[in-house]
Amino acid sequence: MISYADVEKLRSIHAPQPVVLSLYLPVPLDPVGVRGLAAEARDLMARAGADGPDGASASAVSDADRHALFDALAAQGRDWLGHTVAFFVCGELSLFEVLPLPCALAERAVLATRPHVRPLLAALQRCPDYRVAIADRRHAWVLTVSGNQVETVARQSVEGPRSPGFGGWYGLETHRTQQRIIQLGRHHYRDTAAILHRAADPGRNTPLVIGGHHDSIAGLLQALPPAVRKDFAGSFTADPHTLTPARIRELASPVIEGWVARRERELSDEISGRLTAVGLRASLAAVNEGAVARLLVAHESMIPGFVCGRCGALSTGSDQCPDWGTAARAVPDLLEDMVQRTLDDDGPVTVISDAPFGVAAKLRFPVTA
Ligand SMILES: [Zn+2]
Repeated sequence: MISYADVEKLRSIHAPQPVVLSLYLPVPLDPVGVRGLAAEARDLMARAGADGPDGASASAVSDADRHALFDALAAQGRDWLGHTVAFFVCGELSLFEVLPLPCALAERAVLATRPHVRPLLAALQRCPDYRVAIADRRHAWVLTVSGNQVETVARQSVEGPRSPGFGGWYGLETHRTQQRIIQLGRHHYRDTAAILHRAADPGRNTPLVIGGHHDSIAGLLQALPPAVRKDFAGSFTADPHTLTPARIRELASPVIEGWVARRERELSDEISGRLTAVGLRASLAAVNEGAVARLLVAHESMIPGFVCGRCGALSTGSDQCPDWGTAARAVPDLLEDMVQRTLDDDGPVTVISDAPFGVAAKLRFPVTA
């Protein structure tokens, strides 16, 4: 599956002309539907170069690139059933990258000077990789989930006293046995927490889901160091003995969906007050001034516009910078250029799906323009 490293690798690719094709293609689940993919890709590619703000097609997908794509669909189409697949193709730059995505996205084809990565960011944020920890007093199981792949990172059992159900020991002895189990439990949660701590990627906040009995969830949560606990996304209750990797993914995925929606909502709610820009006009000004601390952008639409080859200004009209359009070049999607510009400045970008604006920004400093 995809990672942020893939996005960064693609972002390093530039062509002097808009000849880099980015094609997002949902592959049907039914193998019979694969036959229609080439025709669909052909239609999408035909439209890719024709979306200039002046209505004219600036360039078209080359025959070589089109055929490379058709060949890949014929050879591998059946490997991608049920996935949306992203293709990045440019023969001139010897680029041919195919990335199956972890969640379904709408079809899209873009011809630009750089790979179009906004849908990739949307997929990474909506269907993130995550960790699951299952623990009870004797067992711990740590897994990672990436798309539909589930892998065990660690699994261990603690040898402790068996359930003190047999007769003969009463009173103090039973109390001691109970204490011993509780002790083991505590250390055991600490061990599991340590595994999670070691497995954490310090650069990325990989969300964590905890599953198990109610008291084990609470026990493990309490043992987590703050660095791990901040990634806690939620929990599900289940009897650990009945769980399989597939069932764990099934139970954890709504927890992750809820976490993603919550995070998006929190970030949208932060868009209020003085240091914010809401809407295309204000956000464009903020990007052009290098004032964006965080960009929030919807994924669904594309907005054609212009970039000035001299001052670099992004605009909706060709004559909206001090150079009066003398160096303006049409771009198929201003939102994508705003995303790229923000990432270039090390500002985080969040692709939002349900917000009262199409684009907005949290600002580093006020923008007057
Ligand atoms: Zn300019």
